[in-house]
Amino acid sequence: MMGMMMHRPLLIGSILDFAAEQHPRAEIVSVRTEGDVHRQTYRETAARVAQLAHGLETHGVRLGDRVATLAWNGYRHFELYYAIAGLGAVCHTINPRLSAEQLIYIVNHARDSLLFVDLTFVPLLERVRDHLPRDLRYVVMTDRAHVPANSLDALCYEDFLDGHATTFDWPEFDENTASGLCYTSGTTGNPKGALYSHRSTVLHALKVALVMGASLGEGKKVLPVVPLFHVNAWGLPYTAPLVGMGMVMPGPALDGPSVFRLMDAEGVFSAWGVPTVWQGLLAEIKAQGRLPRGFGDVIVGGSAAPRAMIETFEKMGVNVNHAWGMTEMSPIGTHGAMPTWVREKPFDQMINYKARQGRRAFGVELKIVDDSGARVPHDGKSMGELYVRGNTIVAGYYENDAATAKVIDKDGWFGTGDIATIDADGFLSIQDRSKDLIKSGGEWISSIDLENVAVAHPAIASAAAIAMPHPKWDERPVLVAVAAGADRPSLEEIHAHMSEHFAKWQLPDDVIWVDALPLTATGKISKLTLRQQFEGYKLPDLR
Ligand code: ADP
Repeated sequence: MMGMMMHRPLLIGSILDFAAEQHPRAEIVSVRTEGDVHRQTYRETAARVAQLAHGLETHGVRLGDRVATLAWNGYRHFELYYAIAGLGAVCHTINPRLSAEQLIYIVNHARDSLLFVDLTFVPLLERVRDHLPRDLRYVVMTDRAHVPANSLDALCYEDFLDGHATTFDWPEFDENTASGLCYTSGTTGNPKGALYSHRSTVLHALKVALVMGASLGEGKKVLPVVPLFHVNAWGLPYTAPLVGMGMVMPGPALDGPSVFRLMDAEGVFSAWGVPTVWQGLLAEIKAQGRLPRGFGDVIVGGSAAPRAMIETFEKMGVNVNHAWGMTEMSPIGTHGAMPTWVREKPFDQMINYKARQGRRAFGVELKIVDDSGARVPHDGKSMGELYVRGNTIVAGYYENDAATAKVIDKDGWFGTGDIATIDADGFLSIQDRSKDLIKSGGEWISSIDLENVAVAHPAIASAAAIAMPHPKWDERPVLVAVAAGADRPSLEEIHAHMSEHFAKWQLPDDVIWVDALPLTATGKISKLTLRQQFEGYKLPDLR
């Protein structure tokens, strides 16, 4: 027997409609590429989104068309999210930190018809435009006075809105209609497209509102340092309006002092981003000897948050939520909101829990399998590849069957490429990316564990552990480190610091000091680049 309830499609537009009506005064505050700070409410945003939709329609955008963005976090980017998806077209966010070759690949692969670009990236497009589709039209995201001289024959964003009605008769369509497209940076091979739907996006927004409750709240402000150009800024452009939270959009400047200043000026409560960003903010907090005004919560994910970082924030009274996810998961898979029984534990033990990757969000199933594909127990010890299933996870890649076949198993689960354990209470612990694990003498060493302990040394600002080939042991770990100050502790001193946590054979064979670690397009330490950089390096016992 079927239920007898109305079927109303889950459409993204309903989120902004709701916010404009229920949270009309909450603001989007944006640091603009034009150099000033701009503010507008959700109600004003909804009106501009309607105008933009008219503009898009006038320029021929129809159901299913791909419309690209190449932009920082700001209100215009947010407006594009809603106007494009509202028409039933697909908002294809492009990561400007991709290589020129990757950018050319994805614009051609997605067959975008329009490309909206921030002032900053106009020169980037001018350099590659000969390799992009001839009929692609460009729109600079500014007003007419600021459109720079350019060879793109570009249109102007504000002209798209000018003179149009501030209401729109939004079409209704199937909730499984595609709404967004984001390519994973893909460390090998071409980038692969995750094609989100209205349904998956709305469910994701609801799910995040549910599990991240302590980090959200009506009338508070959230700072997405995570970019709108990658994985929908972890869904914040949907979750924040849904719960009536104001958004503070940082624009291009993401260094510690800039982020501190903005948070302080706006009284940001919760800030979301990758660990490398928080390193910069922590340095500025230390320099100023105080927290930004109103700051009480940080969401960290994208790569493992070092235990020392979590501890530092928590000691200052800032709640840390350590989450895990992937582009292919919209992206939230697990979250670090602690159950009461963990919060009641002594501080040190509580931090140990926070250093793991948390527990699954509603609607995300997790399983760990061994090399033969058989499930291993959730006992906190058995390690294997992590597979996921759920209604906010890709069923495959956009027009790429070969890549899809590699990640979807026979039962329809998605293989994350992460090696993990799960304990009996459901806490996930990511040991490594499968390709980053270090195999020494038939045993595995987690590079994440090594890095975590290494950066707790006061002289080490950041570190990456990578495998170096060894004729006898297969691979041996080497630590590539950035010093916090002038002090460069010897390998023996680093061993002394780390030996409490590791067996002797797990300790790095060498430490290499560098000025900075290479980052990926999404701000994570790029082990691939490091491995290339140190190709030919010889371990001390082989020299
Ligand atoms: P990219 O940003 O490089 O395109 P994703 O954002 O999809 O790719 O990256 C997903 C991967 O990032 C995960 O598979 C995992 O390896 C890593 N990751 C994300 N969050 C965490 C975390 N909290 N701890 C450890 N690794 C993480």
